[in-house]
Amino acid sequence: MTVEALQVPVYRPFVVQVARLQRLSPSFLRVTFTGPDMGDFASNGFDQRIKVVLPLPGQAVVDFPADPDWYGAWRALPVERQMPIRTYTIRALRPEAGEVDVDFVLHGATGPASAWAETASVGDEVVLIGPNRPFPGPTGGFEWHPPADASCLIVAGDETAVPAVCAIVEALPAGQRAHVLLEVPTAADALNVAAPAGVRITWLPRWPDDGGAPAPRGALLTAAVVATVEELSDVLAPTPGVQLEDVDVDAGILWEVPEEEPLPRRSSGVYAWLAGEAGVVKGLRRHLVQERGVDRRSVAFMGYWRDGRVSD
Ligand SMILES: Cc1cc2nc3c(=O)[nH]c(=O)nc-3n(C[C@H](O)[C@H](O)[C@H](O)COP(=O)(O)OP(=O)(O)OC[C@H]3O[C@@H](n4cnc5c(N)ncnc54)[C@H](O)[C@@H]3O)c2cc1C
Repeated sequence: MTVEALQVPVYRPFVVQVARLQRLSPSFLRVTFTGPDMGDFASNGFDQRIKVVLPLPGQAVVDFPADPDWYGAWRALPVERQMPIRTYTIRALRPEAGEVDVDFVLHGATGPASAWAETASVGDEVVLIGPNRPFPGPTGGFEWHPPADASCLIVAGDETAVPAVCAIVEALPAGQRAHVLLEVPTAADALNVAAPAGVRITWLPRWPDDGGAPAPRGALLTAAVVATVEELSDVLAPTPGVQLEDVDVDAGILWEVPEEEPLPRRSSGVYAWLAGEAGVVKGLRRHLVQERGVDRRSVAFMGYWRDGRVSD
């Protein structure tokens, strides 16, 4: 790569406005953003992550550092002037229209991103930190890397992973065997997904229809993943005796993903992609790797958020 090419940032800030809002369900709001230079905004598809920079009260997001080292410039600001930055997923990108869709989970006014989404209006401005199309190399930022020989896929997560999972599922080839397990707050949060033949999607609402008490967070997802792994024991080639090092999900981030490089031909037979609340994902990691011997090179474990902890 030339010196000039190396000076092109891989990711960069894009000032965008809300073009449309669509309430998909009780818990999901689709925000369509547009902006003058969205033609340079790129996506690798799948679970492509981006950052959303939210305005502070009384401050316009155009004040956000436009520097290629925007992060260093942001960190150098006094804490009270640092605009909150949160991680989201590109649900859909339409470069020809200069539009990107981001699906926000509405979890109340407990965090700046959810609070912003609850009151968002057409014309509101935020900054998206996204892949920069002019960058000449791979821009990364996604973790969907199934090995070519995986005979079955498990794609599982909670509501924060729904946008990523929907994008992944819609890109699967016809005939790919896949079990998709999604825990969401209510039955009405089961969204329409254009899934190819071979994909089985199971929505797991925590709140029962009969008005009873909700299931504890992660309980339905965990039970469904455990049952699915059991069901797939015929294709699983376990690696026995793996001892996992502990991950403190309150102090750090649970993010254990296979290399972006092509995986070795021999997988566990199953490739799994698991994302959601970090404590729940940690329990699934223990079950799959330690108890069932699933090859960790065939599983992506991602703590998307931590209950009770601000993601900054
Ligand atoms: C790679 C990646 C992709 C992601 N994609 C999406 C996406 O497309 N859509 C999406 O909605 N989220 C997504 N998330 C999760 C999102 O970043 C977090 O939910 C984030 O905490 C939201 O920020 P906030 O400002 O609303 O809350 P914060 O300020 O971070 O947290 C405030 C409080 O709210 C709690 N909290 C945070 N999220 C939730 C939740 N979902 N339900 C209940 N309580 C919560 C926290 O535990 C904390 O107590 C993604 C995360 C990652 C790492």
